[in-house]
Amino acid sequence: MTDIAADRPRAIPADMQEVRVRFAPSPTGSLHIGGAKLVMYDVLFAHGQARREGKRGTFVLRIEDTDQKRFVEGTVENLMSELRWLGLEWDEGPDVGGPCGPYVQSERTHHYKEAAEQLIASGHAYRCFCSPERLKAVREDLQKRGLPPGYDRHCRNLSPDQVQAKLDAGESHVVRFRMPREGETIVPDLLRGDITYENEKLEDLVILKSDGFPTYHLAVVVDDHEMQITHVTRGPEWIPTAPLHVRLYDALGWEMPIFAHMPLILAPTGGKLSKRHGGASLTEFREGGYLPEALLNYLALLGWSLDGETEIFTMDTLLEHFTLERVSSSPATFDRDKLDWMNQYWINHLLTVDDLATRCLPFLIDAGTIEDGPADATHPRYDDVETASALLKDRVRLLTEAPDLMSYFLQDTLPDYDAALLIPKKADAATALRALEAVASVVSDVDLADEEATEARFRALADELGLKAGQLFMPIRVAATGRTQSPGLFETLRAIGQDRVESRVAQAIDKLKATNQV
Ligand code: GLU
Repeated sequence: MTDIAADRPRAIPADMQEVRVRFAPSPTGSLHIGGAKLVMYDVLFAHGQARREGKRGTFVLRIEDTDQKRFVEGTVENLMSELRWLGLEWDEGPDVGGPCGPYVQSERTHHYKEAAEQLIASGHAYRCFCSPERLKAVREDLQKRGLPPGYDRHCRNLSPDQVQAKLDAGESHVVRFRMPREGETIVPDLLRGDITYENEKLEDLVILKSDGFPTYHLAVVVDDHEMQITHVTRGPEWIPTAPLHVRLYDALGWEMPIFAHMPLILAPTGGKLSKRHGGASLTEFREGGYLPEALLNYLALLGWSLDGETEIFTMDTLLEHFTLERVSSSPATFDRDKLDWMNQYWINHLLTVDDLATRCLPFLIDAGTIEDGPADATHPRYDDVETASALLKDRVRLLTEAPDLMSYFLQDTLPDYDAALLIPKKADAATALRALEAVASVVSDVDLADEEATEARFRALADELGLKAGQLFMPIRVAATGRTQSPGLFETLRAIGQDRVESRVAQAIDKLKATNQV
């Protein structure tokens, strides 16, 4: 494995005593797992470094809601509860407060206005009075001429008198950044090295809108500065506008943070991961039966690795080992099979039976497999769920499978199944019937709680009937569970219990008789 970090600068300069990172979502929809991954990397970086090096590491949550038109009610609450479900906590943020609050941009508008005024006064920004109609015409004209879209800098050189006259006339305006026309702007990126832009190709972008709200660019720079963010970790979609941010820091006379544009998560078919690929929001994964631990484990490896081999990580071991230097800049492809494998691994190897039972409860209640009640050990059916969990621990891949997989343990009646399943290989319906009638005649004398005795009795019965053990065991299994696969037959019969096994064998006999093949 090559050392991806070999020629990178160290993420933490030696004299830096505190790192501060932030996640700055716009509340425009449910939290994408790409966002969850960013949060995890922030937490691992800030808290991991605090743990390992004894320096301070702070993770800030900031809500970027300046685009009021795209605001979706309830998303902030959903985002916070989903992150907490994952076990990711912030040190400063809208609900927990902190020294740099408020942490919601719509409550900080005066900071952005002040910065915009400062930029206008220093000549780094200008008021633009172009109407939406004019901007549209400019765009169309550029398009017709095959030129890249943009603004033609029409208001860049208005004289102070012209500006004043328009202001006096009450003309609506925005504020644009005056991008230098010559030279280059360099975006230093921790993962990608220096990214160089020719200024001539950069637009004079809007930093303050006509409603007085900032655009993302101004707000993000002002807030990252005021919240003393040392490392700006965010998605790669922000790279093209990062030169404006670099210029804004310079024009405002502020020290620039370290930028680390993280790798994108791609769908298996390329492109952005979305609902089409079986879900992309954290809610969909939670409701889809994934464990937060497994999801975190999987997401950690989408762009980071310890040694290219180790696959199973707890948050604790990640906090020991995670460094930003080992994050790759290349996109990572989402692989649901791998995630499912990891979820199953966690269920099978890393959860206790008790823990699995508790996590299955809400799914079982929701599906109506067991009655409503508290989703914890005080639920009246908890012991049965625990028994089923012990037997199925190595078979559950997703918690959503629990209602189906556990139903024959937890419900009195079996859902209808095909009578043909009762007929063992190389045998016919009459053989199956003979076998089950023999079982029915002895089962009440067998103590199903004693697995060894039950097995001995049924093996002897197979001999008496002239059948192979498997030819007798299969109809018993199907009669008891309604399916051909289950945990070990005798532990399964013990868990289902004497009464239910007896009545299910009787039902299977009726089912076979109803086929008219016997
Ligand atoms: N509000 C931006 C978003 O939701 C955040 C970008 C950033 O982290 O700078 O993507």
